[in-house]
Amino acid sequence: MSPENCPICGADVPSGAKACPECGADEQTGWSEEAYASSLNLPDESFDYDDFVKRELEPKKSPVPRGIRWFWWVAAIAVLAAFLIGLFRLIR
Ligand SMILES: [Zn+2]
Repeated sequence: MSPENCPICGADVPSGAKACPECGADEQTGWSEEAYASSLNLPDESFDYDDFVKRELEPKKSPVPRGIRWFWWVAAIAVLAAFLIGLFRLIR
């Protein structure tokens, strides 16, 4: 049994729906604000965000990725040079 309106976010819940289309509240969480509050405290929701931010910011600050990028530029130029030398020898 689903309520006509979600008690958590107030969105219209289609009759027979097993979960709120807006906020995801469902029969298992009891359509209650208590369940919503406990779902907000789930560790993985906030943890994932912090981890994502750290991954976004750290490479720009630390010099190691720049060194790796520089190495790949040198490697790419070396391969290109070797290819051009091979091409010249082929033409001559
Ligand atoms: Zn809702």
